[in-house]
Amino acid sequence: MDPGFDPDRTHGDGVAYARERDAADPLAGFRERFDVPDDLYLDGNSLGPVSDAAEQALDRAVEQWRDLGIRAWTGADPPWFWYGESLGDDLAPVVGAAPDEVVVANSTTVNVHTLVGTFLDARGDRPPGVLVNELDFPTDHYAVRAQLRQRGHDPEEHLHVVESRDGRTIDEADVVAALAEHDVGIVFMPSVLYRSGQLLDVERITDAAHEHDALVGFDLAHSVGVVPHDLSAHGVDFAVWCSYKYLNAGPGAVAGLYVAERHFGTRPTLAGWWGHEKATQFEMRREFTPADSAGAWQTGTVPVFSAAPLAGSLELLDEAGIEAVREKSLALTSYLVSLVDKRLAELDCSVGTPRAPEARGGHVAIEHPEAERVSATLRDRGVIVDFRPPNVVRVCPAPLYTGFVDVWEFVAQLRELLETGAYEDVDAGGEVT
Ligand SMILES: *Cc1c(COP(=O)(O)O)cnc(C)c1O
Repeated sequence: MDPGFDPDRTHGDGVAYARERDAADPLAGFRERFDVPDDLYLDGNSLGPVSDAAEQALDRAVEQWRDLGIRAWTGADPPWFWYGESLGDDLAPVVGAAPDEVVVANSTTVNVHTLVGTFLDARGDRPPGVLVNELDFPTDHYAVRAQLRQRGHDPEEHLHVVESRDGRTIDEADVVAALAEHDVGIVFMPSVLYRSGQLLDVERITDAAHEHDALVGFDLAHSVGVVPHDLSAHGVDFAVWCSYKYLNAGPGAVAGLYVAERHFGTRPTLAGWWGHEKATQFEMRREFTPADSAGAWQTGTVPVFSAAPLAGSLELLDEAGIEAVREKSLALTSYLVSLVDKRLAELDCSVGTPRAPEARGGHVAIEHPEAERVSATLRDRGVIVDFRPPNVVRVCPAPLYTGFVDVWEFVAQLRELLETGAYEDVDAGGEVT
């Protein structure tokens, strides 16, 4: 994809160029639909801000609780009883799946438990080995290890970890090589690495896993809502993601999951009545009959107030279009990378994110030896980024509410701070990340 960015044009009056880009941005109007808490909120890959649509959907849910009480389960609009399924239908195009293959349920960590557990049980003749990588978000490893131990498989023996060559990225060739080297039943990888922002080649990893008769799942936490996916067409077996990052559904919002249609009917590890076949759920049978859809991986009652904001924020995403969001995201991150090169390299900053657009998610890792104190100082000034150890300032210009002038302003502020050494007296200790 061509982000339509000509780096040479950033020479000269930088902010004029940024203004020009904002003026030509077809998504610029979405900014006023969000209530962004700070001057420069560049942390939407940790917690997206509230939008008018999300807040209205939440208000509507409260009203329906007040007005309908228990009747809202079937009488609300949309009926809460099918909320997980109906939100799954809305999300399906965002991840490239059929409506039945997606449901909204649980938290991301719980979904890793239930899906990895399910496919460890359903692996047939495949070995119990699970292939992950060294740079994963820690909760994914905790859950996979727990599921292995649960089945009497020692993680030291059966958890295989692809190492990074540079501490930032994972080479897909190393994933392929590990598949040849170890007995792997399940490959479980992130789409985007949470620290460096590398976007892995989902299709290549899926094909390689299947060539070795392994199943493959992805954690899309750092890509869903900013990078389009094609899970069904690529033949991915299962996926999980959270809704409070680029999907802007609010803190702890209910998560999402995908299971390929060919696996419908497989027994979920964390079976619960909310995953029962809907038509007979209220017959209260003792035997569990899983829904014939991804809905089977729901566990208990859908948390309506943690689901409603997602309905609103998905309306905005649908209006914008995930392809347009990706295009603007790449334009913003390309612009940021070029400004770091031009204006911050001499001040000890470097870019830790892959430069190839097809290998980049929605955020940029700026490396600096004092990243922790620099991040804390930026936050003190209302420039919200986060620090990830050991040396990364993580910057996310989320496309629905961030413009080119914001990126320019961020770089100007960071430059000023590094030039004056204003971060040197700051105690990074108390910072909440
Ligand atoms: C944010 C994130 C999670 C969060 O999991 P929760 O269960 O929502 O706390 C999990 N995995 C990855 C890769 C993440 O980025």
